[in-house]
Amino acid sequence: MTAGITGATVDRATGAATSSILAGSDPEGRVGMSYQGRCRCGTVTFSVAAELPQTAVACPCQRCRQMDILLTFVPDACFTLHSGANDIGQYRFHRHPNRHFSCNLCGTTVFMRDDRPDGSALRGINLRCVPAAESGALTIRWVDGAHH
Ligand SMILES: [Zn+2]
Repeated sequence: MTAGITGATVDRATGAATSSILAGSDPEGRVGMSYQGRCRCGTVTFSVAAELPQTAVACPCQRCRQMDILLTFVPDACFTLHSGANDIGQYRFHRHPNRHFSCNLCGTTVFMRDDRPDGSALRGINLRCVPAAESGALTIRWVDGAHH
C-alpha cells in the first residue's frame, strides 16, 4: 500500500537530486539537462539540450589543433542557436564533410555541423565555448583522421 507513495517520492526526489548534483560552481552554464555556450565576444550564443559531457573529442586536423578546439557531438535537434545567426561564417575543408561555423566578429569557431549520408546531421560543439565545461575535468579523446 506504500508503493504509490514511495514511487511519487522517489520521482520528485530524483528530479531535485539530479539538478543539485549537476549544479557546479558555474550555475549559469547549466540549466537542468542542458548547457549554454557563447563565442569569445558574446555575439553567438547557443544552448544544447544534453547533459554536459565527461569526454571531449580533440579533432586532429591542423585548424582545430591551432585553435585548440575540443568537441562533443550531439544530434542536430539538441542544438539551439540563440543569437548571432547573421554574424556566423562557414568554413569547410575541401576534403572534410564537416562545416565549421565561426563568429565573424571575434573569429571563434563555435560549432560545426556534420551532415551524414543518410540525411541526419550531428552538431559538434566546441567545448571551449562552454563555460561550464571549462571547470570540469574533461577526458580528452583523440580521434584518428582516417575517416575524415
Ligand atoms: Zn564572437
